[in-house]
Amino acid sequence: MARILVIEDNPANMKLTNLLLLNAGHSMLCATDAETGLVLARSEHPDLILMDIQLPGMDGLAATALLKQDPATAAIPVIALTALAMKADQEKSRLAGCGAYIAKPLHYQELYAAIDSLMAAAQDSTTSTHPLDQQP
Ligand code: MN
Repeated sequence: MARILVIEDNPANMKLTNLLLLNAGHSMLCATDAETGLVLARSEHPDLILMDIQLPGMDGLAATALLKQDPATAAIPVIALTALAMKADQEKSRLAGCGAYIAKPLHYQELYAAIDSLMAAAQDSTTSTHPLDQQP
């Protein structure tokens, strides 16, 4: 189980994501814009971030790039969520620092697989700043 920050401006998508995460035993923090999400990422240090790419104001790619530039949040894995399943978009999200990329609508198997894979990679990483948070 992980503490996951979801940054998503669409209420229906937020609700679905919430249900899927709670079903899998994760707990959730929510932000509906990138600016609020960045503040929560720094203050709450979640285990993982689900980042909608299309947000009002700052977009998810810019927000991810800022998270990856800040040593306090750089180690938090980010999964990009987008309605645009385009190759260029996928490449842009990878360059911004997203560890995985999921096209909406969300499919729970794909979401759970991406979360498990990034959480496992984060636990293997020797650069983790929160060893006590890691479960055996
Ligand atoms: Mn959006």
